[in-house]
Amino acid sequence: MPHLEVVKGLHKVWEARKDFPILERQVNRKPLVYLDSAASAQKPQVVIDTINQYYSNEHSNVHRGVHYLSQEATTSYEVVREKVQRFINARNNYEVIFTKGTTDSINLVANSFGKANLQAGDEVIISAMEHHSNIVPWQMICEEKGATLKVIPMNEAGELDVVAYADLLSDKTKIVAVVHISNSLGTVNPVKEIIRRAHQKNIPVLLDGAQAIHHTKVDVQDLDVDFYVFSGHKMYGPTGIGVLYGKEEYLNAMPPYQGGGDMIKSVTFEKTVYNDLPHKFEAGTPNIAGVIGLGAAVDYIEDLTVEAMASWEEELVNYAIEKLSVLEDIKFIGQAKNRASVVSFLVNGLHPYDIGVILDKLGIAVRTGHHCTEPIMDKFGIPGTVRASFAFYNTKDDIDKLIEGVNRAIDMLK
Ligand code: PMP
Repeated sequence: MPHLEVVKGLHKVWEARKDFPILERQVNRKPLVYLDSAASAQKPQVVIDTINQYYSNEHSNVHRGVHYLSQEATTSYEVVREKVQRFINARNNYEVIFTKGTTDSINLVANSFGKANLQAGDEVIISAMEHHSNIVPWQMICEEKGATLKVIPMNEAGELDVVAYADLLSDKTKIVAVVHISNSLGTVNPVKEIIRRAHQKNIPVLLDGAQAIHHTKVDVQDLDVDFYVFSGHKMYGPTGIGVLYGKEEYLNAMPPYQGGGDMIKSVTFEKTVYNDLPHKFEAGTPNIAGVIGLGAAVDYIEDLTVEAMASWEEELVNYAIEKLSVLEDIKFIGQAKNRASVVSFLVNGLHPYDIGVILDKLGIAVRTGHHCTEPIMDKFGIPGTVRASFAFYNTKDDIDKLIEGVNRAIDMLK
């Protein structure tokens, strides 16, 4: 029998589905079954209302005006920085930098840290299961600097080879950048171990938390991670907003990524004095509405608790695997022991795209293709997968409909 608090938490999570107006709509004249939350999660009414309220009543530019509205907007914006600080347990609020999202945060670190620290002959370590967002920025800076990208291999189950990783670490390694939870395979990586081993050689670690921040409790001090990045839109917040957490000592030593307003203390034609953290990395008018909407999403998650959400999602993943397993010719891509929130699969003889199209006709939204992780598909020698990804607002009924849909696709296509 689960603990009473867990049961109470789960009831709250089940009831929270009604907070998402889009889940009531029809698609192709069928009730929507949304199984694509790993690409982008839906938004609760409170996030929508908060953004609406901001634009209706409070909008003004931040950090610039003495007037009332500007000060009010600045306060609301900075309050969210403290909210995010508490949410991820950062030591200081100025270690939280607002960006456009995960991709933008990684580009910031690759460019700024890379510019200051990479030289010809140096190495950057990533893993075999990275999203393109955590491959390409590193490739670009390595090419510019004459550095080399090293890749931690993974096994057939989709688990990283930690022993091979330890062998890759050397005096040449300047940074390790690894995904916390894989968006294609659902693998939860042993990130504490990855960080511990890198720190033995004084190498900083960046974790791509795009799929983790809303599926597991993230405590950056406990992880002792040096950079942690995530996107608002995956965690029930708006698009176009994200976070770069960085340890003060690293962020302070890094040059600005972009120049412009807000990131300066003073400008003459001869010299610019840069602003302190966090503003040094927030050039130009920021996504104020996005930040304020992100704050509402953080409140929303904290109210339901990541633990309760994750426990229901785990049940959904296990239920989906159990139900899919009995289908003929099913093949799972990614069978890590420690996994979360996504199930990637193929039906032998069928193209994932064709399955996706038939599911769509039934109102079921799944993702098909390479999921911005082409090297994973190359490793398994496949064009792509069908990926069902789950959020706490999904139900077992959604999964039953998915199974019916896949069966229908098999009947039609085989
Ligand atoms: N990393 C991972 C693991 C992701 O799942 C995603 C989004 N699919 C990204 C990075 C990129 O996130 P964004 O597009 O929000 O920048």
